[in-house]
Amino acid sequence: MSLLNVENLGVRIGHVAPVDGVSFAIEAGETFALLGESGSGKSMTALAIMRLLPPGGRIVAGAVSFDGKALGELPESQMRGLRGRGIAMIFQEPQTSLNPVMSIGEQIAEALPPGMPRDEQARAVRGLLEEVGIPEPAARMHSYPFELSGGQKQRVMIAQALAGQPRLLIADEPTTALDVTLQAQILQLIKRLARERGMGLLLITHDLGVARHMADRVGIMYAGQLVESLPAGRTGGLEQAFHPYTRKLMQAVPSLQRAGERLAAIPGRVPALDQAFAGCRFTERCPHAFAPCAGTAPEWTRLGEGHAVRCHLAAHPEIVRAGEAAQALRMAGAGSETVLAVRDLRVSFTQRTGQLFGKRRIHAVDGISFELNRGETLALVGESGCGKTTAAKAILGLTPASGGEVELDGKIVTGLSERRFKPYRRLAQIVFQDPYSSLNPRMRVGDILQEGMAALGVGGEAGRGQTIAALLEKVGLAPDALNRYPHEFSGGQRQLIAIARALAVRPKLLICDEPTSALDVSVQAQILNLLADLQREEGLALLFITHNLAAVGYLAQRVAVMKAGRIVETGAVHDILARPQHPYTQSLLASVL
Ligand code: SF4
Repeated sequence: MSLLNVENLGVRIGHVAPVDGVSFAIEAGETFALLGESGSGKSMTALAIMRLLPPGGRIVAGAVSFDGKALGELPESQMRGLRGRGIAMIFQEPQTSLNPVMSIGEQIAEALPPGMPRDEQARAVRGLLEEVGIPEPAARMHSYPFELSGGQKQRVMIAQALAGQPRLLIADEPTTALDVTLQAQILQLIKRLARERGMGLLLITHDLGVARHMADRVGIMYAGQLVESLPAGRTGGLEQAFHPYTRKLMQAVPSLQRAGERLAAIPGRVPALDQAFAGCRFTERCPHAFAPCAGTAPEWTRLGEGHAVRCHLAAHPEIVRAGEAAQALRMAGAGSETVLAVRDLRVSFTQRTGQLFGKRRIHAVDGISFELNRGETLALVGESGCGKTTAAKAILGLTPASGGEVELDGKIVTGLSERRFKPYRRLAQIVFQDPYSSLNPRMRVGDILQEGMAALGVGGEAGRGQTIAALLEKVGLAPDALNRYPHEFSGGQRQLIAIARALAVRPKLLICDEPTSALDVSVQAQILNLLADLQREEGLALLFITHNLAAVGYLAQRVAVMKAGRIVETGAVHDILARPQHPYTQSLLASVL
């Protein structure tokens, strides 16, 4: 008997069927990854297992059993006892999952087994915080969520999930908000704990590298259904993937080895799930679709040990592999007009130490200098907390600089008042990391895009409409997106909207702060291709803040590596990635999965 059995699971929310006939099993000590684009039904499957579906959601078919218990038949009181202690879940959005008015120590303690004495509780909380890499755990356990960075909040959620010593851990994009070295550490930690405790792990991810590194088996989801199931692991199980969708996903993943190639974004979108499907749900996007695909839904075909696929082509694998020729397009070279010059920029502020009245001076940005030309991309790389985002905010005048200067399009803008800075707002736009909080939830997308253009006097009213329609098409959103609200979109789509909003005012400089960290690989490829196109076609200067070194290889001409507020190494992207000189750059590169 498997630890978890999901049999023909079907979920409905109103007229939408986000999960339709999904089956898989997880053994104790095994890691199973569910992989797919946003909107494929991965997270909804996990929520159905936990019986935590959103309002209006219900399980309409199939069954879930855990440790021999049919979860659909348990009264809610028993299900509550099971959550956290039998099955724990690490959610995708640390911003909204932690209670803002409780200290993180109290929140972790709540998840510990009941009846533990207070001093033992405190020791356990400190131990868990230390295990997930929170510095100074004795002091930080008294902190509140707002005092932590996004990455630290995600670590706290992981500590909280592990506190109940669950037998099955469901991790929904558990490291999306973490930088690359921390991501590797956390994944190793989860993997080790799962193995040592014989814990089953259901890993939900859009990151093929993570699935390959972590999982024993992978299930690929598309439009509410599993379409392929196969062994994973570093031994190359995923390379045997057959389904055209899985193979497209693999081609969309950036890697250092394929630097300079154009990424294969998957054209089209996941179909709406409020309709009845006659044939294969991937038909409209599939490069290999042929006669039976549109009218007949494919059944499962077994291809090998633990490998099964749902595709009519399973009888003709040579057609799939023969059609895959990689397209190698070189990114355009840079121009010579300097758009941004940063000289000895400094930002410092005072932070509480956790002791009564204790304070210390933090030098978040400690004298950095660089220039950025028209049509050029500079990648600013480093772990979270190294000062990248603070530097970006100081460049845009959103955080006051303590020293140094910023020259934007030939004008020193450091220290300008908001009114005098206004003409330069249009020239420099930023796309933030968090697509959840960067869009006004009460405004329709059309109004969000219009707002910035109107405020900065870009285009006439009629012209704005045309610009916005063209932008939506360029970022891959349907025209009806204009009349919808941000909450109606997935995280990836919200990031596309944020990018469209920044581009709407035709900036010369675009600062992208981890723009793809929350996106699945197909959307990520679409965005990286889009940014490369903009750089080439419109001469956009791009400051690309990231911990994703693979993406750096695609997009940037130069890299500056930041550590503790300083740039420790800078140079041409191929030199730095191939021959890093600084030990910190070497450790960052060694952490790429
Ligand atoms: Fe493509 Fe047809 Fe296979 Fe669907 S069944 S993935 S449309 S070839």
